[in-house]
Order: sequence, then structure tokens, then C-alpha cells
Amino acid sequence: MDFFEKINSKNGNIPPVTCVILDKFTTLRVGGPADYFAEPANEKQAAELLRIAKEANLPVLLMGNGSNLLVRDGGFRGLVIRLGKAFSNIQRKGNCLYAQAGALLSVLARQAQEAGLSGLEFAQGIPGSVGGGVYMNAGAYGGELAQTVEFVRVLDGDTLRDIPGDEMDFSYRHTRAMEEKWIILGAQFRLTPGDPARIEAAMRDFAARRKEKQPLEYPSAGSFFKRPAGHFAGALIEGAGLKGLSVGGAQVSEKHAGFLINTGGATAADFLRLMEQVQARVLEKYGVRLEPEVRIVGEEK
Ligand SMILES: Cc1cc2nc3c(=O)[nH]c(=O)nc-3n(C[C@H](O)[C@H](O)[C@H](O)COP(=O)(O)OP(=O)(O)OC[C@H]3O[C@@H](n4cnc5c(N)ncnc54)[C@H](O)[C@@H]3O)c2cc1C
Repeated sequence: MDFFEKINSKNGNIPPVTCVILDKFTTLRVGGPADYFAEPANEKQAAELLRIAKEANLPVLLMGNGSNLLVRDGGFRGLVIRLGKAFSNIQRKGNCLYAQAGALLSVLARQAQEAGLSGLEFAQGIPGSVGGGVYMNAGAYGGELAQTVEFVRVLDGDTLRDIPGDEMDFSYRHTRAMEEKWIILGAQFRLTPGDPARIEAAMRDFAARRKEKQPLEYPSAGSFFKRPAGHFAGALIEGAGLKGLSVGGAQVSEKHAGFLINTGGATAADFLRLMEQVQARVLEKYGVRLEPEVRIVGEEK
């Protein structure tokens, strides 16, 4: 019995599983087909999908808003589970907000502001979900999610667990979820009471800085490379004279050299070739090896 048959025999306990091209689910707008793709409606369905995928020996890829993912052109031979709208509930509990994994960080930050809760101002302009954000320990302007996470609700195999924030091994763009292969279902953020107008002002300031510095008018995955110790990736790339360097439709942004943008019709292979050229030139000039921050998944075409 193949995976589709197994799923179909489940009589509605499982969401419809389809085959989709992943480019429309990533902010880089590249990526090939996923053999199987499902958007579970609740935690039970997510757990059931995982169980069946494990039984069928299928690799699983979790996806939030696709804003830090480069899916290769051959796509993903396995099951993509996307936690989207059905997982977007946010609830206030005293000075905490609990958000399901599919809630957008922008919506979470806005709700915190409206509730007069400070600590997530930096997150408003990050176009990711709570699941992807916690997984990546997303951060900006001196803030990162690690600072406010009280606990993370995960699926560890078939077991639901609440992992305290201080057991998540948060560091720069890294969490324990990466090694443990946990699926993040939600997270609780402990915030501090604050004046909504001041929180709003901080959010506006960060948004203005993003608009001024970042090529938000083009598809991208934000900063393509991690910040190497003691340097800024964008400054090294610019210093190596690489602004505007293109491969096919992929280009080093003229506005912010840390961003690789899709100027139209780029493929994942264009981005990977451009990434390699940038890495080689920066290594040659500065002796610094740039590591991608973007998570690269799937197969070559
Ligand atoms: C214009 C722009 C600006 C950006 N600015 C910033 C910034 O300032 N700071 C910053 O840190 N990032 C930034 N990013 C990158 C990106 O938005 C963040 O990394 C974000 O947190 C990714 O969330 P996502 O939901 O899009 O994750 P995805 O891209 O969908 O996934 C990212 C990784 O998380 C995993 N994952 C996703 N959901 C789950 C889950 N529920 N359980 C387990 N694993 C999961 C995926 O498998 C993948 O490995 C920017 C991106 C863009 C396009």
C-alpha cells in the first residue's frame, strides 16, 4: 500500500494529501514539487501524519511561511507538512502570549503591542511563522525569540512535550529542535507590561529601518548568510565588489548585499550557483567562509 492509499484509508482523520510545486510556498519563489504535501487541521492530525510517514519510511519536511527555505528544483521526495492558518491561534495568559506554530510573527507582535506587552517589537517585520521563527531562533535589532520563550510545545516522535525555554539550547540561529527533529506546534512567550504607544513607536522605527535598508520589493529569504563572527556578511560581500552579481534570475541585491533576490524567473540552481560564487570570492578576499542561514532542502533536478 503506498502512502496515498494509506492516507485515504484513514477515513477523514487525516487532511487531504496532495502533490504540489513548492515555489509558491517559499518567499524566494523557487522550488520543485513535493511528492506529498499536507496542511493538518489540528495537533492530532499532525501526529497521525507523522506516524504514517514514519511507517512508510518517508522523509518529512516541516514548513511554516517558507521565508527561510531554499527548496532545490527537483523538489522533495517525501511529505511536506505545512502548519498554516489552522495553527494560527494566539491566546493571552496574563503577561504571556501562547501562539500556535502557524501564527505569523507579525501578527503575534501586533497582538502583543495591542495588549500592552513588550518584548516582541523586533519580530514584527520578520515574515515567518512562530514555528519557523522558534526553530531558527529568529532575531533582529538586538532581539531574538530566545529572550522571551517560556516553553515550546513540540511533537517528539508521537509524544507531545512542553520544553522549557532554557532547555532549548538557543543560540544564534540555532535551537535544539534542529538536532532533536522536533516538530514545533506552538510556543509561549513571557512578555513585560509596557506602554502600547511606545511599543508601537519601536515597531515603526524597526519597520522604517527595514524599508530603507532591505530590498523588500523583491522575493528573497532575508539575509542569505549567517553573520560570521566579528563581521557582517553584507559588508564582506559588498567589500568584495559583488553587489549586483547575477546568475540567471538570482542576484546579489544592490540595496543590501546580504540579500540574494529573485529578479524574475530564478531557479534554485541559480541561487545555489550565486551562493557558491559569493562564498568563493569572500573567502578569497577575506579568508572568511560564509555559511548559509537559509535552510537548503530537496533534490537537484
Ligand atoms: C524580507 C525578509 C526579512 C527577514 N528578516 C529576518 C530577520 O530580521 N531576522 C531573522 O531571524 N530572519 C529573517 N528572515 C528569515 C525568516 O523570516 C526567519 O528565519 C523566519 O523565522 C522563518 O520562519 P518561516 O515560518 O518562514 O520558516 P520556514 O522558512 O518555513 O522554515 C525555516 C526552517 O524551520 C523549519 N520549521 C518551520 N516550521 C517548523 C515547525 N513548526 N517545526 C519544526 N521545524 C519547523 C523548516 O523545516 C526550516 O528548516 C527574513 C526573511 C525575509 C524574506
